[in-house]
Amino acid sequence: MLFDSHAHLDAKRFDKDRDKVIERAKQNGISHIMNPGADFESSVKSIELASKYDIVYAAVGVHPHDASTMDEMMLQLLKGMTNKPKVMAIGEIGLDFHYDYSPRDIQRKWFREQIRMAKEVNLPIIVHDREANNEVMNILKEEEAFDTGVLMHCYSGSAEMARQYVKRGAYISIAGPITFKNARKAVEVVEAIPIDYLMIETDSPYLTPHPYRGKRNESSYVKYVAEKIAEIKGISFDEVAERTMENAKKYFRIK
Ligand SMILES: [Zn+2]
Ligand SMILES: [Zn+2]
Repeated sequence: MLFDSHAHLDAKRFDKDRDKVIERAKQNGISHIMNPGADFESSVKSIELASKYDIVYAAVGVHPHDASTMDEMMLQLLKGMTNKPKVMAIGEIGLDFHYDYSPRDIQRKWFREQIRMAKEVNLPIIVHDREANNEVMNILKEEEAFDTGVLMHCYSGSAEMARQYVKRGAYISIAGPITFKNARKAVEVVEAIPIDYLMIETDSPYLTPHPYRGKRNESSYVKYVAEKIAEIKGISFDEVAERTMENAKKYFRIK
């Protein structure tokens, strides 16, 4: 059984066949899918999906792309939503200096505010970090986010920084790009850190792994990420499945 630690099933690209995508995931041995929010609307949808589908779990939060849509009222509404069933984390939150869709100061402000909220409601966070590696690490340290739990999703930093994360008890989630021929950095990360701190994800509908690169991604393809990790670590597919399942269940506090 596999745990897809990050999928956007609420995305419009799944509107036509969401039931089938989830059915296919189950047939391919996916027993759990974490569906993070990206903005307010998708956080609401994430909770709806978690109540509709047994294998789906929810996180609420606003992505750095949409940080400029946030205000104090939205923060309070998100906080209230953490009481709903199957809301296991705050996310995805963080910094994205690649696209800069929201001004950097606004991204920083709401990243910090959402970490503080996560600490108030005692939930772990799901962190998005694109081209902001040092700042993300510094903010997480300053806000003492490691106390309640940090998951670096679709990790794109160095192996050295991954070691620093693991030292602080954070988890690293690996996505489809590790299956690409030129995936040197992600391979080094998997080599550098123990399996006890790894999770696997699709980030579907984005980041489709080989051999489906270019098509829409979906949770059933998370097995290609697991296969690649097994190959890098020289262990069996089943061990990767079991261990990443254990890690995700422990992190999101799922029985
Ligand atoms: Zn992300
Ligand atoms: Zn995402």
